[in-house]
Amino acid sequence: MQLEKYSLGIGDRFGQEGGAQLRAFQKAEQNGAVVVPVWNKSFREHSLIGTRPEDVRLEADNAVRAGNWRHGYYVDADHIGMKTVDAFIAASNFFTLDVADFIGLPAPDADVAAFVRDMASFRGALRIPGIETAFEVTDAVLEKIGRHYLVAVSEAGRTFRHIAAAKGAENFVTEVSADETTEPQLPFELFFMLGALAREKIPAQTIAPKFSGKFLKGIDYVGDVRTFEREFDSDLAVVKHAINVFGLPASLKLSVHTGSDKFSLYPVIRRAIQKHDAGLHLKTAGTTWLEEVIGVALSGPAGLAVSKRIYIDALSRYDELCKPYATVVEIDKTKLPAPATVASWSAEQFVSRLRHDQTNRDYSVDLRQLVHVSFKLAAEMGDEFRKALGDASEIAGRCVMDNLYERHIRPLFLGT
Ligand SMILES: [Zn+2]
Repeated sequence: MQLEKYSLGIGDRFGQEGGAQLRAFQKAEQNGAVVVPVWNKSFREHSLIGTRPEDVRLEADNAVRAGNWRHGYYVDADHIGMKTVDAFIAASNFFTLDVADFIGLPAPDADVAAFVRDMASFRGALRIPGIETAFEVTDAVLEKIGRHYLVAVSEAGRTFRHIAAAKGAENFVTEVSADETTEPQLPFELFFMLGALAREKIPAQTIAPKFSGKFLKGIDYVGDVRTFEREFDSDLAVVKHAINVFGLPASLKLSVHTGSDKFSLYPVIRRAIQKHDAGLHLKTAGTTWLEEVIGVALSGPAGLAVSKRIYIDALSRYDELCKPYATVVEIDKTKLPAPATVASWSAEQFVSRLRHDQTNRDYSVDLRQLVHVSFKLAAEMGDEFRKALGDASEIAGRCVMDNLYERHIRPLFLGT
């Protein structure tokens, strides 16, 4: 199973927006860019909401059938490992093997020695076409990289083989993700990590490194865009070179786990993939959920009350809701509006705080992040939220579709 050149990961917390999401891809196709949808949902999201991987499969299949979509589409078991993979095997055809927790666990001496031996031909000045500076590779460098990454790579291998035994290796796409670590990978580390994956015979088609800067949930990139640009450009060169020298799948490409809405990076990413004629997988997630909250708020007084209640309840359960996302949200609590203030707002006032429009003076990164992590409260509302979303389905669907197409697909894949 070969993943298309351009793919976009889309989350859908409540499984209602598959059709609206697909329409954004169809509009892209009409405008000249074939981008394929990958519905991603992690174990964490499933357990917070009470959904199962089969629900995502059903949603994707239904959306594709109803929309008559002619290209590929995927259901991504996002950030899984040996502990969580089994529930995803039947429903998914894309597996993101998350090795972050194993990076840095010291690999056994014999494994490290074998790795250094296998990589010995790279000793000396390593030149990667497209990267100006050479990197000096010594045994000590190889040893350090091997020690740092081999446990993670062998864990990815174990998970890959487990899935392959159940599904057949040809029947799914493999991604390896290292993005949920604390330290960014340098381009040469990524190179040898890919070498280690090839040694382990993992046919990775996407690789998600950790980039510099902060990828907080639902808001724009926090960091130095120039640094990211250099790093991303080098990583693209590394991937291309690694395909050739290690014999990895020709479809191997970078995967950027954005946490949604890294708008300031999109032009940079677009320039770089065009320059290298490279593919791209880019994951969004909660951006669709936030559009649902917006759509519900805009649907009438009852909907507005539901959307406001999600925020107001979230204030009183702040610690509990933020805890699972501790490393990826940064909220200034002093800037969160008080319940009484929010209660008095019109739909317009509420939406102008929440919608990701940086030209709007009222837009609040703090309120937006808190609502981003509060989907659990909507799940707890049960039928009440489902009804509000159902009543708002037209306007919410339009928000979801416009957001994906206008703010994500257009700048990334059409450059307009
Ligand atoms: Zn990720």
